Amino acid sequence: MRELVGTCTVCGKEIYCEDGFLNGEHLDNELYCFDCAAEKE
Ligand SMILES: [Zn+2]
Repeated sequence: MRELVGTCTVCGKEIYCEDGFLNGEHLDNELYCFDCAAEKE
């Protein structure tokens, strides 16, 4: 199962939830892909 959750706040990449696993991160109520989440830290 693959569900579109939203897009990365920084780069606009689409974030999906796949089998309950989010291929991004929720930080401060915003959605980030892993690349942008890593740069934010
Ligand atoms: Zn991004």
